[in-house]
Amino acid sequence: MLCYPMSSGRLQQRHRGYLEAEVPLQPVKQVGSFRIALCYPNLYFVGMSNLGFHSVYQMLNSGADVLCERAFLPDDVDREELERTGRPLATVESGSDLRSFHVVAFSVSFENDYLHVLRMLRLSGIPLRAAERGPGDPVVVMGGAAVFLNPEPLAPFADLLAVGEGEALVPRLVEALAGASDARRGIEQLAEKDGFYVPARHQVRYHADGTVAAYDGPGRVLRQRGWPGKMALPQSVILTPHTEMSMKFMVEISRGCPCMCRFCWAGYNYLPVRGFSRAEIVGRAREVRAHAGKIGLVSTAVCDHPEIEAIVDDLAGMDYEVSVASLRLDDLTPDFVFKLADTGVQGLTLAPECGTDRMRRILNKQFTNADILDRATWIFENGIQNLKLYYMVGLPWEEHADVEGIVTLTEQIRDRMLAVGRGRGRVGRLHPSVNPFVPKPGTPYQWLPMEDPRETDRKLQYLRKAFGRMANVDAVIKSARTGVSQSILALADRRVADALEHACVEGVDLKRAMKAIGLDPAFYLFRGRGREEVLPWDIVDNGVSKGYYLRELDKSQQEKLSPHCPEIQGCIRCGVCVEAPNPSYRLPEKWKALGTSPRYLKVAAS
Ligand code: SF4
Ligand code: SF4
Repeated sequence: MLCYPMSSGRLQQRHRGYLEAEVPLQPVKQVGSFRIALCYPNLYFVGMSNLGFHSVYQMLNSGADVLCERAFLPDDVDREELERTGRPLATVESGSDLRSFHVVAFSVSFENDYLHVLRMLRLSGIPLRAAERGPGDPVVVMGGAAVFLNPEPLAPFADLLAVGEGEALVPRLVEALAGASDARRGIEQLAEKDGFYVPARHQVRYHADGTVAAYDGPGRVLRQRGWPGKMALPQSVILTPHTEMSMKFMVEISRGCPCMCRFCWAGYNYLPVRGFSRAEIVGRAREVRAHAGKIGLVSTAVCDHPEIEAIVDDLAGMDYEVSVASLRLDDLTPDFVFKLADTGVQGLTLAPECGTDRMRRILNKQFTNADILDRATWIFENGIQNLKLYYMVGLPWEEHADVEGIVTLTEQIRDRMLAVGRGRGRVGRLHPSVNPFVPKPGTPYQWLPMEDPRETDRKLQYLRKAFGRMANVDAVIKSARTGVSQSILALADRRVADALEHACVEGVDLKRAMKAIGLDPAFYLFRGRGREEVLPWDIVDNGVSKGYYLRELDKSQQEKLSPHCPEIQGCIRCGVCVEAPNPSYRLPEKWKALGTSPRYLKVAAS
């Protein structure tokens, strides 16, 4: 039976409302002596839309004698009430105080949520810094994509960081922490294992100019990967109307993308591409059909799944409304577009990223403006009326002609939309969205500075005006300063943790907090990094070699393309695979063949 011993009245009521509306797709676990509070550092609405959060919740609850409950960032009204009444933040399921759990685990996907992690710890009465916690405090674990890309700005707040995919790490984590006489002792065991980072054991030294001199400690932490066949299919475990997905069943069909676009951290960090079988995906979709009419296929590269068309056919046969995340242009086929349209899809998202073929060669995007126009035409001809288009400006080696190219390309797509739409008697809308480019860790651009924001703003203003003159086009154009805090956190070293703490305690924004403690945002954003420099995120070894990133950076400047992964037979070029793949591997089988065995991975697959 659920009880609410400590939580505040409003929060308690809100949690009851959530539970009443939820449809669990797996049995609800209610007992377990080792208790873990799984926290999402944003609102329930956001957290329950995150498939990674669902997967980790399911994995933690599969541990023998483990009970996992969820907690979310309260909204401003609930937060004020907690602060006023002095009551601690509580879990959704039983309304228990987070301090009463053995482990408080955070799933962190985005840098913008770092401050929320600290706020949740503070609202729970758990000391912010690992160094301030003692035997009576829960063990604070952090994991998630943002954490394994660059764990440093959160490092002092975590007793333990999980570096890699949950499927490989969560079972080992549970075994060590729940199996130890005291969860804190379990940390010592994990500190010796690949994929677990205990920041207290790694001290950072800095040069006088502020760059990292070295990490003193046990060495780099090897990022871990899961492997289909050895892990449960990542899927929604609870349906709720209180998310953006609103009762949509989400399922991951493949992980990783072979394109190796030079700006894309997800592309490099989820190599190699791994897929789940059609039988497993469709079988599970059939089991939950009675509860869900909508299904979202989650993947870094949906169309790359070798059986995608058959999967969509099967789902349409069950009368599912199918949706997919952003589609990769080079893999889109007329058949696939037809099948999607057949399931009732009204709008799709494409990512041309830039407006010229020259810039696409710089980025290693292997399609052209002509290809984009063809794909857009298929989409409109199949009755899908609305198209979202993602672009970036401030890209490396960008010229004005590249920015003009964005306008020209959008106009040409719009003209196709109008021509097809008028013939069919219904005209849709284009939604271009333009973001300033931010260099990301774990990509060939990690050494590059961000463009001067005044220059980026000039480009954005030019686009705002040009799109403003186009009928049937609704553009979303951010300013160069939007997302600056997120960019600082992505590129931060451990000293930025002090600024996060200051921002949390004093209630100021990150930039003001950095100023207060004497850190300069420009040092992180607008400074080119030396090729020999130790980068803050070098503490994580994601498998891709530094030499490979540097070669790709040089090829980018020379406007040269690199082949996709794994289009070269026997490929060991990026460093993730250490042996040649199976010699019987056939190119047309693409990554499906590579997926037959995890033994080619440097990192042991779990
Ligand atoms: S196509 Fe490029 S940008 Fe898109 S996920 Fe793949 S690597 Fe990233
Ligand atoms: S080594 Fe080759 S096959 Fe393996 S992930 Fe890298 S590019 Fe792909």
